[in-house]
Amino acid sequence: MKVSVWYNNEDIRIEEVPRPKPGDKEMLIKVISCGICGSDIVEWYRQPRAPLVQGHEIGAEVVEVGRAVSAYKPGDRVFVAPKVPCMQCAYCKNGQYPVCSNVKERLPGGFSEYVLVPQALVENGTYRLPDSISYDQSTFIEPLACVVRAQQLAGVHSNQTVMVLGSGMSGLLHVKLAKTKPCRVIATDINPKKLAFAGNMGADITLDAAENVAAPVVAENNHRADVVFLCTSAMSAIDQAWNCVDKGGVIVFFAVPHPDEKVTIPINHFWTREIRIITSYYCGPPDIEAAINLIETQAIEVDDLITRQIPLQDIADGFRMVMEGQETLKVIIKPQH
Ligand SMILES: [Zn+2]
Ligand SMILES: [Zn+2]
Repeated sequence: MKVSVWYNNEDIRIEEVPRPKPGDKEMLIKVISCGICGSDIVEWYRQPRAPLVQGHEIGAEVVEVGRAVSAYKPGDRVFVAPKVPCMQCAYCKNGQYPVCSNVKERLPGGFSEYVLVPQALVENGTYRLPDSISYDQSTFIEPLACVVRAQQLAGVHSNQTVMVLGSGMSGLLHVKLAKTKPCRVIATDINPKKLAFAGNMGADITLDAAENVAAPVVAENNHRADVVFLCTSAMSAIDQAWNCVDKGGVIVFFAVPHPDEKVTIPINHFWTREIRIITSYYCGPPDIEAAINLIETQAIEVDDLITRQIPLQDIADGFRMVMEGQETLKVIIKPQH
């Protein structure tokens, strides 16, 4: 079978490897759709595990199950999480699934014709797709689940003003989810095309991130933002977050700058205004269930976020499109094409 092996963003190779045979408690799935995530192109984050097969936004069909697997059968349509928390440790019991100390197995990457699902993920990381969710739509389950978790950690609720800095894929999912609460949403980007997307997808105010964004936030909104989501690694956006958050508000680092960058927090200014700064990383099982439900009920539409579907052999082009990011939102790899 063909797999795409990522060495770095400029060196992605299609390699031939034997198609794995599932053990008794494993299963083999055929990848129908796998999204390229913004985090897949972040070299400092991915390089330590390279060369690797990437791809964690997988919609697949079960093709073969081990003798001891009874929950699934060939033909089942599934989403499989890239890893599962243990649900037993103190972190899991506290709902802090992404920091679970006992994550043992990872799903091999989905930029591949087939994927062998390890036992832990067969048992606790596989979700049957409702008939109404297409394979392409299922690639949004994981990214939306991360957005669900971030908005929950930030305590986003109706009638708040939510500001989204960076209107790429994850920023736009934040816009869409905040609108379901409903919140008043302000979105920024330096790219006018992405700002237009944000407007079309429900943002009430869109602002050019190259300008001073704090002044119009106050002018058009009467007060600053209750919650600010940083959905870009740009350092300039961090200063904007400091300036745009209201008293008692929350700033969420959903994306982070390069590890060599140093972030300076105006902590004395924030102290007297009770501003919280939090991070949000990945998602947990309840967030995945919530994301499936949001897509199934069409509370969140995702079709308008799909820019391109491309075959596995052209994956390097797909990575290039996501890196350039000019007009690209979600690129979906179709390994069976
Ligand atoms: Zn992702
Ligand atoms: Zn745990």
